[in-house]
Amino acid sequence: MPNYLKICRIVLAERNGQMNKIINYTKTKRSVFLVILAAFFSFFAGCSPEQPARKVADSIYYNGKIVTVDSAFSIFEAVAVRGERFLAVGTNEEINRLAGPQSRRVDLEGRTVIPGLIEAHAHPERASLSELDDPLPNPRTVEKCLGWIREQAGIKPEDEWIIHPKLFATRLLDLRPPSLEELDAAAPDNPVFLNGSYGGTINSAAMRASGITQQSSHPGLLRDPETGRLNGKLRFTALHLLKLPERKSLSIPERAAALEKMFALYNEVGFTSVTSGGLSKADTLLYCYMKDHGMLTVRAFLNIYVRFPFKDMPLEEIRQAVAGMGDVSGSGDEWIRIGALKTSIDGGILTGTAYLRQPWGPKAREIFGVVDPGYRGIARLNADQLAGLFQAGAEAGWKLTAHCTGGGGVDLMLEAYEKVSRKVDIRPLRCSIIHANFYTPLAMAHSSEMNIIADMQPAWFYKDGDAMLHILGPQRIRTFHPYRSLIDSGVVVSAGSDHMVIRDPVESINPYSPWLAIYSMVTRRTERGSLIVPEEAITREEALRCYTVNNAYASFEEALKGSIEPGKLADMVVLERDLLTCGEDQIKDMKVKMTVVGGKVVYEL
Ligand SMILES: [Zn+2]
Repeated sequence: MPNYLKICRIVLAERNGQMNKIINYTKTKRSVFLVILAAFFSFFAGCSPEQPARKVADSIYYNGKIVTVDSAFSIFEAVAVRGERFLAVGTNEEINRLAGPQSRRVDLEGRTVIPGLIEAHAHPERASLSELDDPLPNPRTVEKCLGWIREQAGIKPEDEWIIHPKLFATRLLDLRPPSLEELDAAAPDNPVFLNGSYGGTINSAAMRASGITQQSSHPGLLRDPETGRLNGKLRFTALHLLKLPERKSLSIPERAAALEKMFALYNEVGFTSVTSGGLSKADTLLYCYMKDHGMLTVRAFLNIYVRFPFKDMPLEEIRQAVAGMGDVSGSGDEWIRIGALKTSIDGGILTGTAYLRQPWGPKAREIFGVVDPGYRGIARLNADQLAGLFQAGAEAGWKLTAHCTGGGGVDLMLEAYEKVSRKVDIRPLRCSIIHANFYTPLAMAHSSEMNIIADMQPAWFYKDGDAMLHILGPQRIRTFHPYRSLIDSGVVVSAGSDHMVIRDPVESINPYSPWLAIYSMVTRRTERGSLIVPEEAITREEALRCYTVNNAYASFEEALKGSIEPGKLADMVVLERDLLTCGEDQIKDMKVKMTVVGGKVVYEL
C-alpha cells in the first residue's frame, strides 16, 4: 500500500464521529470519498515535517500538577497518553485539544503526578512467598520476638522448626538478639533459628537438631567469652551447619500468582519498575511466564547472580563461563530486561559482617560477640579475584555489580573496577555498587570518574542510622549514606530498598515504601527521631530523581522511562498530596491515588 494511503487510514481511523459519518457515506458515494482523499493527500503534501498530523489521545489527565522530572524539572497542568506512551504534556487547553470523543478524561482535581517510580534493588520473588502460609512479624523488641516464638512453640508440634527468615538484632530496640537462655525458655523443644543473613541466632534444640555440640569447632560458632560455651550466635558459613527443613517447592504458576500479588502492592506505593536483586538465569522464566500470561504490572530489570566458582578460576575459564551465561545486560524488552552480572563482597551491617575500613570496635564486639579487636568484618574476595570476574564480564558487555555493605568493601570494589578500567572502558557499562553504605570523598571521586552508580537503600538510614551511630561513633557515621556529597561529586545515586520478606511496605524487611526512603533522604531523620548528619540531606526534587531518571539510567532505559515526556512509556503516579510542597512529616505517609503502567491504570485508591 502506498505510504500516503497508510497515513490516511490511520488518520481516518482517528477522526471524530462526524468524520466517521463521512467515511460511511463515502462507501456509497465513491466520488465524494475520492474528493476527501484528495483533500487529505494535498493536506499532507503541504505539511512540513515539523507539523506532523494531530494524534488523538486515548486518555488525558488534566487540571493537575504534572511533575515531569525532565532535565529542567518542568511542571505542566496536563498530560495526554496514547497507547503505551505519553503523547504530550502542556496546559489544560493544549492537552484538551488532543482529546477525541472516545478519549478518557481524568480530572486530577489539582493533584500532583510524578513519573512511575523505579525500585533499584529488591527481592520481590522471595518476598512474595514469605507470608504464603502465615503472616510474619517484624518485632521491635526482644520481648516481642520471644512472644512470637512462645506462640509458635504453642502451635507447632515438638521438633518442628520455628524460623524467622530475616530478623536483625540491631533493629530491635534492645540492640541485641535474644540470648540462648531466653530462646530455650521460650521454645525448649522446638529448634529456633532467627536468620539475620550472614549471621543468626539459634537455641539449644536447633543445635541438637543440627548435630552441633560444645566440641564443634567451626569458627563461625560463637562462644561466651567467659564460659567458652556456645552462645547460640552464628556467623557467616556456620549457617550452613544448620539442618533446616526443606523449603516447599512451588511451580512457576504458583510463584507467578504470588508475585503478581506482590507487584499489585508495589503498584500501590507507586512502583512501575523494579530491579530484581539477584536471580539465576533459570529464574528469569518466572518473569517470562508472567509476561506471557499478562500478569506483569511492574517492569523488571533482572540482575543475574554468578553461580560458578570464579574466585579460583583463570581468566580464560571465567571468560568461557561468562559466555555461557548468554544474553547480556540490557537485552530484552520494555517489560523484562537482563540486568547486571552480580556477585557478593561481604556480609551485612546489621550482623557485624560488613567489611569495614577500620575495625568494627568495642560496641560491635559487645553486640555481635566478636572477640578479635582487629576484626573488620568479612571480605569474601580480594580485589584481584573480583577484577577477574569483572574483566571477563566487561569484555562481554555486562553491567557489573556486587553486594557490598561496608566501606572496606566499597574500596575493594573500586580497586577491582580500576584494575579492569585499565583494560576495558567500563564507563558505558554503568556499573554499580549495591548497598554502598559508606563513602569517603576519595571513593566518591573514583566512582564518579568510572561512572560507578551508588545503588543505595535510603530506608536503611531511617531504620539503622541510630544503631550505626551507637556502634561506629560520630566520626564514622559521617560516611554513612552521604547523599548530598555523593550527588555533588557527580555520582549517580540509585534508590531502592532491598525488600526481602513481609508484604507490607513499611513493616517489611527491608521496608520498601519509597516515601519512607524519600523522607529520610530529605530530612536525615531516623525511625527513633534522631537527626543524623543533617548537612547530607538532599532536596525532594533530587530524591525523586534518585527514584526515577537515575534508576532508568542504571538500566539503560533513560530514553524510555523515568520522566513524563512525549514518546516515553506512559508510567506515572497520581499522588494524594503534593510531594514537593507537603509537610515533611507527610512525605513518609504519602498515599498514591492512581498508578498507570504503559497507559493502563493498574492501581486506583
Ligand atoms: Zn539484596
